[in-house]
Amino acid sequence: MTLDVTWALQWVRRSAEVVAEHRVELIELDRQIGDGDHGENLHRGFTAVVSRLDGLETPPTEVGEVLKVVATTLMSTVGGAAGPLYGTAYLRAAKVTGLTELGSDAVVALLEAGLEGVVARGKATTGEKTMVDAWSPAVAAAQEAAARGDSPLEVLDAAAVAAEAGAVATDPMVATKGRASYLGERSAGHRDPGAASSALLLRAAHEAAA
Ligand code: ADP
Ligand code: MG
Ligand code: MG
Repeated sequence: MTLDVTWALQWVRRSAEVVAEHRVELIELDRQIGDGDHGENLHRGFTAVVSRLDGLETPPTEVGEVLKVVATTLMSTVGGAAGPLYGTAYLRAAKVTGLTELGSDAVVALLEAGLEGVVARGKATTGEKTMVDAWSPAVAAAQEAAARGDSPLEVLDAAAVAAEAGAVATDPMVATKGRASYLGERSAGHRDPGAASSALLLRAAHEAAA
C-alpha cells in the first residue's frame, strides 16, 4: 500500500495490537532494570490513541495529523520517561509529514525527526542503553536503504530490522540514562525496555504497509 493517512491509521492500530501482545514482556524487561511499568504505560497510551482517533468527528486526511494525535495522547497518558520521549518523537515526526503520500525520502525524514525528538528530550547518545539504541541504527539503515533506491516499504523494513538488532545490542550495555542507570553495572545483562518497544513500533510501521 502507499504510505498515506490510511497507512498511518493502520500503523496506530497495529502499534496498539503489538503493545498489547508484548505488554507482559515489556513489563518483565522493565522489572529487571526499572520499575516494571513500561508495558502498562504504553498499553494505556496506545489504547487511548486508538479511542481518540475513533472518536474524531472529522477523520484525519494527512499522516501528520494522525501522528500529532499520537503525540499529544501519549504525552498526556503514558507518563514516566517514555511518555514525553515518545510524545516528542511523534510530534517532531508529525511536522515533517504533511504530505498525503510518503516516498522513501519522506520515510527517512519521519524517522530522523523521531530520533531528533527522543534525543532533544532525553539527551542520550548511543551506547547508553536507551531507546536511542534502537532509533539510531533504524535511521542509519533507512538512510542507506533510501540512498540505494529502495521502496518506502523496503525502507521501513530496513529500519525495523536495524531497530530489532539495536534492541538486542542493549543487552550487555550499562545504562547511563534513565531509571536503569541507578543500577550501574547491574543493568548489564538485560534488554532495555524502551529499545524493545521502539523496535516493536517500527516493525508495526512496516507491517501496516505490507
Ligand atoms: P520510567 O522509567 O519513568 O518508569 P518507562 O518505564 O515508561 O519510564 O520507560 C523507560 C524507558 O525510557 C527506558 O527503557 C529507556 O529506553 C527510555 N529512557 C529513559 N530515559 C531516557 C533518556 N534520557 N533518553 C532516551 N530514552 C530514555
Ligand atoms: Mg518504568
Ligand atoms: Mg515509571
